[in-house]
Amino acid sequence: MPGKVIKVERSERLGLLERLYVPMIVQGLRVTSRHFFRNLRGFVTGRNRTDFVVQYPEERVDYPDAFRGMPVLVQLDNGEPKCVACGLCEFACPTDCVSIVPGELEGSRIERYPEAFDIDLSRCMFCGLCEEACPEEAIVMSREVELATYDRPSLNFEKEQLLVPENLLKRRLDFLRGEYDREHERPERKE
Ligand code: SF4
Ligand code: SF4
Repeated sequence: MPGKVIKVERSERLGLLERLYVPMIVQGLRVTSRHFFRNLRGFVTGRNRTDFVVQYPEERVDYPDAFRGMPVLVQLDNGEPKCVACGLCEFACPTDCVSIVPGELEGSRIERYPEAFDIDLSRCMFCGLCEEACPEEAIVMSREVELATYDRPSLNFEKEQLLVPENLLKRRLDFLRGEYDREHERPERKE
């Protein structure tokens, strides 16, 4: 079952009850207790297990389309990255964890490609600004969050580790096209 995105409407000005705090604390406790007993019932009876906390890692939730895991590079059918090494994602990244070394392609409509493309995932905060900045839909936020290493240098992912075939990123790409209302055109590549 996919997770749900709930938009909470909040008024900018606090009402009388909110300013008194105690009624709001009681309301919060009521909500917490309701969820606690509902989940406890689901756990004991085995019914309505969706109410209950997911038994990770044996059970997984299907994250909503808006979910942002680690950034990855879109890989075209010919195995090449879709990236044209324009550097916009590198510039947009607030933690300076993207580093690109551009190379030149001769005789192709696309003149540049990333000779090297590294992301230091120990500094990445999965904000998605690189994805927003990219004019080519070449870097997108994946659903991958399981990153565990024994040392920080291992979290410096190179181009080959970041490449993910475009068809595996279809769900995210469809979400982005809906979200940003983008025109999509696949660049031509020299084989
Ligand atoms: S998700 Fe944010 S922090 Fe991570 S590489 Fe992209 S812009 Fe940088
Ligand atoms: S991933 Fe996108 S924004 Fe970053 S260098 Fe490549 S084409 Fe430019």
